[in-house]
Amino acid sequence: MTGLRIGQGFDVHRFAAPEDGRPLVLMGCEVPHDRGLAGHSDADVMIHALMDALLGAAGLGDIGQHFPDTDPAYRGADSAQLLRRVMGDLSERGWRVVNADVCLIGERPKIGPHRERMRGRIAPLLGLAAEALNVKATTTEKLGFTGRGEGLAAQAVVLIERI
Ligand SMILES: [Zn+2]
Repeated sequence: MTGLRIGQGFDVHRFAAPEDGRPLVLMGCEVPHDRGLAGHSDADVMIHALMDALLGAAGLGDIGQHFPDTDPAYRGADSAQLLRRVMGDLSERGWRVVNADVCLIGERPKIGPHRERMRGRIAPLLGLAAEALNVKATTTEKLGFTGRGEGLAAQAVVLIERI
């Protein structure tokens, strides 16, 4: 079992004002909604949690170290591209992903209609079949910042193994 490592990630972004016109990007997919998430990059909260889980599993720190939000290079960055770089770092070190489980936390939007599109977009970047990338969501029963619709949170867990 020594060739296996687990990692977890958590991220939060607040919603931008509707008049900011930012798209809502989740798992590399634009999801129709009346507002997008605020952030230095495209604010893809699910990919950010996923990248932190991958970096954590490989013992490589966190996305703040790899892609500092003070660096203009990452302004408006496509998080799917950043995920590609994280996967490059992992494979250079001899790791491959076994499976991943990503959970969006918030009241709206509902991601059910977009789940298969998200899996189809991100699973190949992880070197996975779609069935090995689980995408799910939960509400917080209208409690807290996610319950009030102030933002979205995401959690991710990944398992990696030595190639
Ligand atoms: Zn983030």
